[in-house]
Amino acid sequence: MASLDKKSDCCSGIAPAEYVFAMPAGVSGPAGVEPPALGEMLSRAANGESLGREDAISLSKLGREEVPFLLRSASRIRDKGKGKTLTFSRNVFVPLTQICRNRCGYCTFKYEPGEGPLFLTPEEVVEMAKKGAQLGCTELLFVTGDKPELLYPVYREALGKLGYKSTAEYLIAMGEAGLRERIFPHTNLGLATKDELTAFRESNPSMGLMLENISPRLLKKGEAHHGCPDKVPRHRMKTMEWAGELQIPWTSGILVGIGETWEERIDSLYALKELNDAFGHIQEIIIQNFSPKQGITMEKYPPPDFIDMLKIVAISRLIFGEGMNIQIPPNLNPDTYPLFVHAGVNDLGGVSPITIDYVNPEAPWPKLERMRNIIEDLGFTLRERLPVYPEFIGRKYINDDLLRLVRDAVDEQGYVPSEEVHNGTY
Ligand code: SF4
Repeated sequence: MASLDKKSDCCSGIAPAEYVFAMPAGVSGPAGVEPPALGEMLSRAANGESLGREDAISLSKLGREEVPFLLRSASRIRDKGKGKTLTFSRNVFVPLTQICRNRCGYCTFKYEPGEGPLFLTPEEVVEMAKKGAQLGCTELLFVTGDKPELLYPVYREALGKLGYKSTAEYLIAMGEAGLRERIFPHTNLGLATKDELTAFRESNPSMGLMLENISPRLLKKGEAHHGCPDKVPRHRMKTMEWAGELQIPWTSGILVGIGETWEERIDSLYALKELNDAFGHIQEIIIQNFSPKQGITMEKYPPPDFIDMLKIVAISRLIFGEGMNIQIPPNLNPDTYPLFVHAGVNDLGGVSPITIDYVNPEAPWPKLERMRNIIEDLGFTLRERLPVYPEFIGRKYINDDLLRLVRDAVDEQGYVPSEEVHNGTY
């Protein structure tokens, strides 16, 4: 019977972790007896049949001893579509502004005017882009607070002096400036209009917006998104629908552990699947775990249970199938991220040689050389990608001038050619 054994370390002793899985036969460990109903459901998913909502909810209720069967199925589906390749991107994290009009209960990114600079200056952004390009980074990852100009006159006036009416306008200009340094912008703006997205598309080969959760319940008093006008799920879906109409390769995902129910998690994944079925532009689904930090409103919330994280990652693979890129952020799971390979992930997100993760400043990026060794120990090859995934590099998704630059930066498989580790310190 497949089992979960508690041990002190894993992955050849490289990455300590709380659990090691003795997997069912075919992955490793002894064969177990799969309950017939579960086996039937998993083999339908493995054969490419879409998993229904009720099936997904029943998988969320699996007991620990049944979880390895779910993981095995998710791994096989991943292997079918993605082979034994895991990817990451090398980025520079640019927190263009940390002023924000929302008040998410889990936020450590936002500060008020007066507590720090209103925004990075154009010179600072160009300097970061230059430095990143010199160190071999290919992604200029813009992350900002949402629409501070609508709440803070002091921000609006300062931005006006620079010549911009909105954070979106400023981001568009900074993306273009970054591209001139030969590093590709990937912007996480928050809500955007279709006109803004059209302008971003000129310089951004891909963009992103986390759905986080589809449930409007989380906007209620006492919940994680109370007081957050930009977290209204239908508005986030609308931005992503426009992105779909414009065929912008899009990164999205869910945030796990912010007070949502299992049903709400699964409904969020299906909302994203429907969007992708309609437009085909979702290039990546991130399954991000909430992590409690001192001083935030949700300081006392527990982090999501590790087994629940494995389940939601595996269920995501079953819902989206073999073609989707599914990511967990390794810096938020520093001891356990290799184990998510057993749950069907094929991407480990962005790793930066020069900047911290400003959204999770307490969580350092993994050292790249070490990450590579761990992944190779698991029998996989680690490849570097651009912010845009190889399968989205084409005229359908990227305009001609930008596409020329993108193609110049990749090999015939669409990956960054150099396997060189530029800096042994990360
Ligand atoms: S998490 Fe993002 S949107 Fe929410 S308050 Fe913080 S900066 Fe604003």
